[in-house]
Amino acid sequence: MEREENNFRDRIGTMNAEGKRSWVYPKKPEGRFYKYRTHLTWFLLLFLIASPFIHINGHQFMMFNVLEREFFIFGQPFWPQDFYLGVTAMIIAVLFITLFTSAFGRIFCGWICPQTIFMEMVFRKIEYWIEGDRGAQMRLDKQEWNADKIRKKGFKWFLFFLISFGIANVFLAYLVGSERLLRYITEGPFQNLSTFIALLIFTGVFYFIFSWFREQVCTIACPYGRLQSVLLDKKSVVVAYDHKRGERSKGRSKFRKNEDRAQLGKGDCIDCSQCVHVCPTGIDIRNGTQLECINCTACIDACDAMMDKVDLPRGLIGFYSEENIEKEEKFRFNPRMKGYAAILFVLVGILSGMLFLRTDVEATVLRLPGQLYETHDNNIISNVYTFKLINKTTGSFEDVHFKLMSHKGSIESVTHERIIVPENGLAQGTLFIEIPKALLKDEKNKVEIGVYSGEKLIETTSTNFMGPRSFR
Ligand code: SF4
Ligand code: SF4
Repeated sequence: MEREENNFRDRIGTMNAEGKRSWVYPKKPEGRFYKYRTHLTWFLLLFLIASPFIHINGHQFMMFNVLEREFFIFGQPFWPQDFYLGVTAMIIAVLFITLFTSAFGRIFCGWICPQTIFMEMVFRKIEYWIEGDRGAQMRLDKQEWNADKIRKKGFKWFLFFLISFGIANVFLAYLVGSERLLRYITEGPFQNLSTFIALLIFTGVFYFIFSWFREQVCTIACPYGRLQSVLLDKKSVVVAYDHKRGERSKGRSKFRKNEDRAQLGKGDCIDCSQCVHVCPTGIDIRNGTQLECINCTACIDACDAMMDKVDLPRGLIGFYSEENIEKEEKFRFNPRMKGYAAILFVLVGILSGMLFLRTDVEATVLRLPGQLYETHDNNIISNVYTFKLINKTTGSFEDVHFKLMSHKGSIESVTHERIIVPENGLAQGTLFIEIPKALLKDEKNKVEIGVYSGEKLIETTSTNFMGPRSFR
């Protein structure tokens, strides 16, 4: 990639003076952070790929069938009625990301985001394997097309397509379920042509992203990256270059043997550009925090390796806040981080509490639209209702019946003799509630209803009971 001094002020790192794209050839990273990232990647990839194929009590471990409104999270069924949990989880996630970013920068991007994981840990590794490291890739791209280039590029693109197709299949398994996906595969593509076309479109999108669009997802398309500038401040800990140590009074300069750099006023940066060469988004971290930085830590590893070679202390690039660098102090948990951690802890606690308190059965009893009350003999008032019982568990509920809890009266299903709510299913019908007129206080009365399975109370709900305006 061509570089000019100070061009980072006018344009993003992957663009040249004419506004055209400069292709990034990152050097293969090595080092302790890269090792940690590799371990984390294997775990996350395994989780991502295996989740739709694991079943717990007959339920898919993770499934998000939006079209048929079937959701399983960690093997637990969730219904559209649990939407409030999803909304709460999303609000907490936004707060989590906002607080986490202002404390630790864009670390999510470099370590957990599927885009980075697939790009840097899957597709990029294949590229290194087939085309070699940075220098070899640059030479290959510059050279004329010959048998060797056709073989290498063809093989790489073929593998990229296969993996993109694999990723599209995994996503389909999340959407429609792995069992249905396996059925589609055994039936063949022509039996399920529309699904197969959708699968090819997604394959094409993944292929386009990972073979061509690449780091531009993080630097141009991703809104989270754009938010960075408003989320970070002097206290945010990000991957940063310790410019005080790196530049000192005379600035950076090439390494010379037996030279006392500190005494000469030279910074510890030996201007080797290794931090720039490994950067997957094509930036020079020495220019300060930039929106393109995904906090992948590749530059930390590269710089530490150089510091080891020239016998200088590691950590010229590391996790620092601007304040840490200015005050020449090491990273430590400051009160703000502790405060944010406490808030996040409370938020996660709220969500866990909501999940824990989520009932196994959801009951809805609503008055039949357009129906008024009826007055029977002995001044008994009756209202007609529809009921819906949703079973969110993996076992069925037998002998389900209703009891009036707030009033003396009766409640009977008119559509069922015995109500059974099947596992992960629903039962619905019509019921009557009858209450003596003398017990009604108003024209509109709130009644509490208990839902029992045998003798066990499984849910309570409430509804309105209408009666005549004047009662006494
Ligand atoms: S500057 Fe460093 S941490 Fe940021 S993206 Fe580049 S290599 Fe990764
Ligand atoms: S890797 Fe370290 S020493 Fe080399 S240019 Fe980057 S900051 Fe300077």
